[in-house]
Amino acid sequence: MTFEELAAWLKDMGQPAFRAGQIYQWLHEKQVSSFREMTNLPAGFRRQLEELCELVVLRQEDRKISAVDGTRKYLFGLVDGNVIESVLMKYRHGNSVCISSQAGCRMGCRFCASTIDGLARNLRASEMLEQVYRIQKDLGERVSNVVIMGSGEPLDNYDNTLRFIRMITDERGLNISQRNITVSTCGLVPEIKRLAEEGLQITLALSLHAPDDRTRQELMPIAKKYSLNEVLDACHTYFEKTGRRMTYEYSLVKGVNDNQEEAKALVRLLKDRGGHVNLIPVNPIKERDFVQSSSKTVTAFKNYLEKNGINVTIRREMGRDIHGACGQLRRSYLRKMEEKER
Ligand code: SAH
Repeated sequence: MTFEELAAWLKDMGQPAFRAGQIYQWLHEKQVSSFREMTNLPAGFRRQLEELCELVVLRQEDRKISAVDGTRKYLFGLVDGNVIESVLMKYRHGNSVCISSQAGCRMGCRFCASTIDGLARNLRASEMLEQVYRIQKDLGERVSNVVIMGSGEPLDNYDNTLRFIRMITDERGLNISQRNITVSTCGLVPEIKRLAEEGLQITLALSLHAPDDRTRQELMPIAKKYSLNEVLDACHTYFEKTGRRMTYEYSLVKGVNDNQEEAKALVRLLKDRGGHVNLIPVNPIKERDFVQSSSKTVTAFKNYLEKNGINVTIRREMGRDIHGACGQLRRSYLRKMEEKER
């Protein structure tokens, strides 16, 4: 429940007005995992809450810490037996958590491990909040950035994602700045336009991955539904309405989208748009035979964009020793479970 929903519900229960603030603080600032811990509530009322309410708590199934860079990868169990993964990355500018928005995914991007088993279900806002809360507790340090770039397509779970964003940025909760939240989408055009109207200051990242429709369609089935023109127009609308500059993600796959022709086409496509390109050497998954571009190719690609006035960075690879890429840990867990059953 949002603060307003909680306040209305407590009022109906005949509770005093200050109760909402107390409970909201326990849940979203102190991040307790049971009603019993809410020690400033009357004992009888705590018992009543236990009977009436369900507190969503994630169970930590696994945690891997990278020996290379301290990246932490978590596998969390949901009440219905589904599992999801989340990642903590430590940067100089703060702690960033990458959360999942769905268990599985139905977008079908060819290089992505999250989508191989399809969509299990949407995550609730509480399950998204809990990923951040459990990680902050485990780390013992404040989380300052959230990227919705884990498994799932956030705009395919629009309402819960928006509820999550409003709650994680609520000053009565974790109070993360909207500017420190990034939503990454494969490019759902109607939802991008809808997001532009929400009055938010979050960053929108588009998974572009190719400078022409044909190549993009090979990598991402969604590109058959929305052309590059349509999706880039929607991104432009987002920029115009919010003043927030777009981020374009471009995973470099050897021999597929990484030659100089493609760099040229990308410059033509993005030249006057004022966004930022994030180059990501594709993370190979064993189910597909996509190969990472060589570091020489990646650098050449970057230099070409830069020389032609495109704002570009190469994303530093983190946590590779612990299955850092989208959906790999969850997938290896599911495989293990299947084998056990057999
Ligand atoms: N569904 C959203 C967010 C999740 S994926 C989206 O498509 O943007 C987050 C980013 O990681 C996307 O840009 C996605 O294309 C990219 N990605 C997924 N698997 C990858 C892999 N194996 N190597 C490199 N990037 C990958």
